Amino acid sequence: MSSDKKWIVVTGATAGIGYSTAEIFAKNGDNIIITGRREDKLKELAQKLEKDFSVKVLYYAFDIKSKSEVLKFVDDIKSKNITPDVLVNNAGLSRGLDKVQNASFDDWEEMIDTNIKGLLYITRLVIEMMVKVDRGHIINLGSIAAYQPYTGGSVYNATKFAVRAISDAMNLDLIDTKIRVTAVHPGMVDTEFSTVRFNGDKDRADSVYNGIATLTADDIADIILYVANLPERVNVQHITVTPTQQRSINIINRNNIFE
Ligand code: NAP
Repeated sequence: MSSDKKWIVVTGATAGIGYSTAEIFAKNGDNIIITGRREDKLKELAQKLEKDFSVKVLYYAFDIKSKSEVLKFVDDIKSKNITPDVLVNNAGLSRGLDKVQNASFDDWEEMIDTNIKGLLYITRLVIEMMVKVDRGHIINLGSIAAYQPYTGGSVYNATKFAVRAISDAMNLDLIDTKIRVTAVHPGMVDTEFSTVRFNGDKDRADSVYNGIATLTADDIADIILYVANLPERVNVQHITVTPTQQRSINIINRNNIFE
């Protein structure tokens, strides 16, 4: 199934930033591989992108926390002779906003296993393929939480600090190659993120964004497409982007200034 077009892998494409990223690359004419756990959403998106943009779209429903499922996914794309040109490591989540003294072990483990270990499994396997052809770009979703700890954020912060550190170390490891590594660090983006954090409590999730013109998933997808399409000699290592109404984790203007 190799093709002259680029192959872009987007993890966590059933919602939010991943969904928009898959869409913008397809609109750009690239072939897309989308992953996530909700198979119905992946199938729907794959059909839509193929119809709207006449590109090839493959979808794989699996849990990024499972090393064996990640291995199976990579074996399958290898069997189709696909070496990804871009891997967007977007699948990730936060759970709860509890202080360390009250937080749940399960929440901590889910964040660590998804945001750090899942990202590492897929990255390790895809980078090996990229190194063989000396081409590729890994784009990791960090966060401003990778720079600024906040109350109740301890383990989510730790996972995003880890993504930042892993991105930096990967850039060093890949010095003898043409492979680029970018970490994109958004502030508030209005997606399913807060609803997942608060276990489906939509009212609590909505209150996070009160009075703020947040970033949209499309804003982040635009940035990802931009860095991926810069000349190969250009390696953007980090991009931090916040809403104009959010200059720092807790420095926020909630006065609806864009209404
Ligand atoms: P979202 O709307 O909740 O989307 C998260 C995506 O990750 C979903 O497609 C979900 O798919 C996937 N995912 C979660 N756990 C997974 C697992 N175990 N296996 C496979 N896929 C999994 O959130 P988002 O805002 O777009 O977040 C995307 C990334 O941006 C995350 O890494 C997040 O930390 C980061 N980020 C978000 C914000 C923000 O304010 N929204 C700010 C900074 C950084 P399934 O549920 O179908 O598995």
